[in-house]
Amino acid sequence: MPDYFTEVAVLRNGDSAGNGMVLALTGEDGRRIHTVAVPQEGHSHTGPTWAYIFENEGLTLIDPGAEASFDLLQSGMALFGSGIADVERVIITHGHADHDGGVARLLEASGAEFWAHDIYQPLLPFDPRDLQMLPTSPIKAMMWEAARANGFTPSDSEERSRYLDARQSVTVGHPIVHGERQGNLTYMHAPGHSPDEICAVIGQEPGGGTVFTGDHVLPEISPHPTMKTDYTAAMLRSLPEHYHDPADSYGLLTYLRSLQRVADLGPEVAVLPAHRLYNNHKFNFQTTQRAADLIRFHARRLGRILVTAGPEPQPLEAVTRRTFERRKLEGGNLFAALTEVVAHVELLEDSGDMEVTDDHRLRRTGHENYQELLRAL
Ligand SMILES: [Zn+2]
Ligand SMILES: [Zn+2]
Repeated sequence: MPDYFTEVAVLRNGDSAGNGMVLALTGEDGRRIHTVAVPQEGHSHTGPTWAYIFENEGLTLIDPGAEASFDLLQSGMALFGSGIADVERVIITHGHADHDGGVARLLEASGAEFWAHDIYQPLLPFDPRDLQMLPTSPIKAMMWEAARANGFTPSDSEERSRYLDARQSVTVGHPIVHGERQGNLTYMHAPGHSPDEICAVIGQEPGGGTVFTGDHVLPEISPHPTMKTDYTAAMLRSLPEHYHDPADSYGLLTYLRSLQRVADLGPEVAVLPAHRLYNNHKFNFQTTQRAADLIRFHARRLGRILVTAGPEPQPLEAVTRRTFERRKLEGGNLFAALTEVVAHVELLEDSGDMEVTDDHRLRRTGHENYQELLRAL
């Protein structure tokens, strides 16, 4: 039993990854939070999306999940006496398909107001997957060469275009800004995994409370950071002016700063993540200490990439293959691993510890200034 939740009642069992599970969580302060685990579309190792439903100035639902999750969400909510039509507010933690894919249908069925971060709507015309592919820097050009050499081609599925069309059909009724309070919730901008990522803290008693972390802080797995140059000039121009500095929205350093923001809430604040609350027959109730653990994880990975690069300049693919175990690079996973290493190399370039040579190799400079950057988070 986690410290903060005095009772965890299973209202519906799911499979071994938790798909379909429905829980009623009771906090120390008596607050009740329900959650329904809805499956992702297609195969994903992150497991179902945990949609959270609770009272806060009306019935509030965070992250409805993928489009196909609607029926399971509806039948799950019926188990605690709530109907879709009772939902007054739908909040999404960020604009990825396993979070906002079900929004259009849910808004239509409920008439609820849609809440998302201030830059969610202006970013809608830009597919984050396309942005990953842009050769916007020498290191990203190297990444793309390595991906192509390994036969990687971006897949344009019918579901993907249906999703992109559907999400452009909705309008955010309430754009969320950092520090905003509403009832018992306080919203926090937490960019890094996604530029529009938010966390929401409920119950602000000193040293207590719960934070909904979306994909920003997850148990068991380390969320994927964006790369520093996953944007175009046109895209930045479509954002409100105070978001024009890309360093405030993208890249590993931005992600680590956002992790520190969560860690600073205090070590006893409970984390309710969008994935892996339950997996492999066990619950993963954690606190904000997980955010500090993730910072340490990336610090180790930065050090490892530096060591791996060795004294001689190396191609990005070689560094990637030495950073990850072989089984983690199988199937289509090499591309994800390349983007992950690029996010780390970008930080090491900024700290002056690594550079890209003219013949497209990664070279250590002999410095280890990145530790300084991490101390300043
Ligand atoms: Zn995500
Ligand atoms: Zn997700």
